[in-house]
Amino acid sequence: APDAAMRPPAQAPGAAAFVISALVLLLAAVVQRAQRELARQGAQIRAELESARQALVHQAFHDALTALPNRAKVLAQLQELLPAAGREGLDVAVMFIDLDGFKSINDTLGHEAGDEFLRRVAEALSVSVRPRDTVARFGGDEFVVVLERFRSRENLGAICEKILARVGAPVLVAGQKVTATPSIGVAVFPDDGAEPTELLRHADIALYAAKERGKAGFCFYEPQMIARASERLALSTDLREGLGRDELRVCYQPKVDLRSRRLVGLEALARWAHPTRGHLPPSMFIPLAEDCGLIARLGERVVREVAGQIARWRAEGLPLVPVAINLSMQEIQGANFVPSLLRTLAETGLDRHAIEFEITETAAMTDVHTTLRHLRELEALGFRIAIDDFGTGFSSLSHLRQLPARTIKIDQSFVHGADASHHDREITEAIIALARKLRLHTVAEGVESEQQASWLVQAGCDIGQGYLFGRPLPPGETATLLAAGFAGVPVGA
Ligand code: C2E
Ligand code: MG
Ligand code: MG
Repeated sequence: APDAAMRPPAQAPGAAAFVISALVLLLAAVVQRAQRELARQGAQIRAELESARQALVHQAFHDALTALPNRAKVLAQLQELLPAAGREGLDVAVMFIDLDGFKSINDTLGHEAGDEFLRRVAEALSVSVRPRDTVARFGGDEFVVVLERFRSRENLGAICEKILARVGAPVLVAGQKVTATPSIGVAVFPDDGAEPTELLRHADIALYAAKERGKAGFCFYEPQMIARASERLALSTDLREGLGRDELRVCYQPKVDLRSRRLVGLEALARWAHPTRGHLPPSMFIPLAEDCGLIARLGERVVREVAGQIARWRAEGLPLVPVAINLSMQEIQGANFVPSLLRTLAETGLDRHAIEFEITETAAMTDVHTTLRHLRELEALGFRIAIDDFGTGFSSLSHLRQLPARTIKIDQSFVHGADASHHDREITEAIIALARKLRLHTVAEGVESEQQASWLVQAGCDIGQGYLFGRPLPPGETATLLAAGFAGVPVGA
């Protein structure tokens, strides 16, 4: 019995030990699982952190809209590439590309359409070069292409042509056919720059030169472009100050009835009385004013000057003719253009027929939809509109019919070309015949000889303008012209 009495306690420690060790085992298993779970979560967290880091790096080096590399990435890439290329004696080309007319796509069709357009440009660029070349977006409508291993400058030129054609082709965005015209500046390592930033800056300067030579082209960097770029900078500072100092002048050129030589209109042509450089022609400051955001102010000045002048001529009792003012696209797109125009007219007490507007065919065709909207607004207000430099802009007939213009001005290159080339003469005659069919008036620009005047009359042209009838004159001499009512010698006189 004592044995029996002893047994249970003897058994009890064994069971407890069993339970304890089971518990320990269980605990160990739980801990191990927890550890494994923690490790798994840790790995997941680490992976998530890593992918977040990669996304940040990607973001820092890529453009969110097009997913193309950005400026930082290109700089980093060039930093690596140039020394290697230098050692191997290889050239590297950097192309700076920018789109004219992109702003108006954004403004007219909205930012979403603008974004879509930029993505299409990115695609068009990417398929224009080889996969190993880099296509990047630096922001806005600025793109950069880096090319390694190309054969020659001619080869680069051919690539530029391809880009111009592909990127400049019309695309359908938001249900509308739109185009923006690319210009390209090219700089080549090591000739045009040894450092990435220098190379990019020089490609940018070459881009400027490309734009100056007319849109839709490309330019290779040349060292003298630097001098021109800094001169431009100086001139733009002068222009800003000059507008404040009233250095803008307006000359007036007669337009005559080709048969009678009766004065039928004047064209206002801006001049800049620069304090040290003398009188500068519009070609030296209108494009500059457009580039540095001064064109709206300049245009306002011209309108105010012309309106004030007409009012003074009227006060002198002179017989008046309509005065045409040239407009650049950027000017009419400005929100303040029409209100300021109407204010000036109200102040001078002039009616709408006192002033006409001329807009170049190229400007009108760069962005037909925006132009149409603005020109129709002007027409609705009672202003007459002429298409300037007609024949240089390759506009389609359907567009010409859409424009609310009453007059086309045949570009002087046709009038001059017709002297020597039968072909130019035929084109001019066809333009005049077409204009008559569309019931548009025709003005021939740049008429310099009686011979030109007489074949223009034969071809059916109504009005002429050119040195034969008078050069652009300051207001005083224009008053004499207005008083006479004729310019040049009447035919047969
Ligand atoms: P445009 O409107 O086609 O003006 C005619 C240009 O041809 C003027 O040059 C005029 O002086 C020139 N010209 C006239 N007759 C003859 C001729 O018989 N032979 C030759 N060889 N040339 C002739 P200009 O004054 O240098 O103006 C150049 C352009 O600048 C103008 O071309 C016009 O597009 C622009 N422009 C002038 N003033 C203004 C302005 O106030 N605002 C804007 N936005 N543009 C202007
Ligand atoms: Mg004109
Ligand atoms: Mg013209």
